[in-house]
Amino acid sequence: MEWIIISSSIVLFFVVLIYVYTSRYRRRKFLLKNIQDASDYLISLVEQRYLVQPCSRCHEFSMQLLEISPNARSVYYRCVYCDKKMHAPAGAPGTDIVLEIFHDIHEMTKQYYSIPNSPPIEPNLVFKTPPAPLPYEQTSRKPIPEAIRSEVWRRDGGCCVNCGSKENLQFDHIIPISQGGATSVQNLQVLCLRCNREKGAKI
Ligand SMILES: [Zn+2]
Ligand SMILES: [Zn+2]
Repeated sequence: MEWIIISSSIVLFFVVLIYVYTSRYRRRKFLLKNIQDASDYLISLVEQRYLVQPCSRCHEFSMQLLEISPNARSVYYRCVYCDKKMHAPAGAPGTDIVLEIFHDIHEMTKQYYSIPNSPPIEPNLVFKTPPAPLPYEQTSRKPIPEAIRSEVWRRDGGCCVNCGSKENLQFDHIIPISQGGATSVQNLQVLCLRCNREKGAKI
């Protein structure tokens, strides 16, 4: 009689153990998937709604999102390559959702770590900035001062003002220097290579 009680309690013990482990496993997997999906969405919103710029030190485009300001009007980020910290203001409305998702990710990460024996995870919050033109990619021979470059870049939202492209961008003098145009914020605009060539052909 006694051996039946002992063996059945051993079986019961293992059943409970297996149940605990599989439910932890499933919960972890569920949270990981949600954290990943939320991170992907967050990154795409940051790329669209903030005027993020390439690294001002090494000119790389890959940035790690660090923090969102309490009113969601700016983001703090770090260059993946040289660690320089930067921040960018919002360039489009509807950034409250960005803050909400950011908090959701933190909350889900906390829940994940509250499950015993959870291996460490690192949410992937790396995004890409639009590539700003380098000095040798400018259309004028004289370099444009950094302050003017970044103000024009910011005002034009980091894309071609004519077609919205984010590739092969250049700073263009609206009135060419040869026709007396100044190197000023008012007389500069961001154009893609193609639109700039079309404009050049017309003049
Ligand atoms: Zn850098
Ligand atoms: Zn264009």
